[in-house]
Amino acid sequence: MSNDSKSVTFRWKGKIVTKKVYEKRVAQQKSGKRRKKEEVISTEGENRDSRDNHTSTDSENYKHEESMLMDGRRIVDLKTLGKQMWCVSCKQALSLDYIEKETRIGLASQLSVRCHNCLIINQVSTSKQRESQDKRTVRYDTNYKAVLGVLHTGIGWTHLCKMCACLNIPCLDFKTYKKYETEIGLAAEKVAKSSCADAAALERKLTLE
Ligand SMILES: [Zn+2]
Repeated sequence: MSNDSKSVTFRWKGKIVTKKVYEKRVAQQKSGKRRKKEEVISTEGENRDSRDNHTSTDSENYKHEESMLMDGRRIVDLKTLGKQMWCVSCKQALSLDYIEKETRIGLASQLSVRCHNCLIINQVSTSKQRESQDKRTVRYDTNYKAVLGVLHTGIGWTHLCKMCACLNIPCLDFKTYKKYETEIGLAAEKVAKSSCADAAALERKLTLE
């Protein structure tokens, strides 16, 4: 009988986890839902019908850390940000004073900015986005560049974190860093292979001459 309870496997989002982790995740989910409900109730009055007008958001991007408190510095692509600082509905200029939520994806941020005129929430990104290599998720240029910088200078993730800490920029976590590093590695391998093939072809041509 006692073996039965031991053999029960706990799964969270498809992955096998320990009972302790599973219980923790369930508790987190519950408190998250409760918080969301409270938020909806507290902002219902000012939202009115604007909630239906939200610009579409890819849920995949929003599983990352969310911070209600926005402090410190961020790395921003000025042109990319500037282009998005217009309300999608009434075309008025948006103000960064009205940021309601920030979702950080590594060093990049997705900002929910409320329009002061028509009160709808616009999604603004601080970095250019592109598809990941497997075309399943969205990747952010800022993170690619940061990881490239780490590889170029020969430092590591911890050094990047220390640098970010000094600059008061929230750093990208190790898991995100690794994801980007793997993709950059694959791309670099491709380039190296083709450049090797080119060099071999050139050598062959020169030898024949
Ligand atoms: Zn507006």
